[in-house]
Amino acid sequence: MSVPAPFAWAGEHLIADLPGGRALFTTRRGGVSEGAFASLNLGRGVGDDPGAVGANYGMLAAAAGVPEGAIAQARQVHGARVVRRDAADPGAEEADGVATTAPGLAAVVLTADCLPVALVAPGGVAMVHAGWRGLAAGVLEAGVAALADAGPVRAAIGPGAGPCCYEVGPELRERFGTEGTTLDLKAIARERLAAAGVAEVHDAGLCTLCAQRGGAPLFFSHRRDHGRTGRQAGVAWRS
Ligand SMILES: [Zn+2]
Repeated sequence: MSVPAPFAWAGEHLIADLPGGRALFTTRRGGVSEGAFASLNLGRGVGDDPGAVGANYGMLAAAAGVPEGAIAQARQVHGARVVRRDAADPGAEEADGVATTAPGLAAVVLTADCLPVALVAPGGVAMVHAGWRGLAAGVLEAGVAALADAGPVRAAIGPGAGPCCYEVGPELRERFGTEGTTLDLKAIARERLAAAGVAEVHDAGLCTLCAQRGGAPLFFSHRRDHGRTGRQAGVAWRS
């Protein structure tokens, strides 16, 4: 499955190099979880075996080239808060984005249809979890603001629900002013980022509901799998 530059496949993961940092987006491939969580599930509260999830995090750190445990997360609540972290954090605090200026620390969000959006600047990076609630609440703007002193921000939108599949009801269509029966979260994200002053926005163009490889789903999808599924990760770190 081809992806546009600056995205590129690195084994089972998708990477994007931007000035100042690198983003990595996982697929569901390459881990040790089984069943509905096969195989690289990074969600801890979804019913998967904690030992398997721990092993998957070890693989994630290795893929990012950071020490095991050098990961900063937050407890995602579909809000608009982005926290700044200088050291590893298992994610007890409620927020939907993590920004850092610390070298060797990976900012991580988990998704299964919502968008993982990497924000990369010469002096810092942020990783943001953005579904329709977060987009409406301004989580991307908060992520850009968290990097206000870090130089020009570039964005990479990872795999999420695509306009091909993401059907919504009339209330959401009216809220976002869209026609048709689907909502294009990625187009909304691009508009929001541009309005926030991000001149360069890249979209991998991968839909978590329908992307397949070898005849099997490439990503975890909360909607497709009716809630019983794993989580993939969006990761950003300074390079
Ligand atoms: Zn799709």
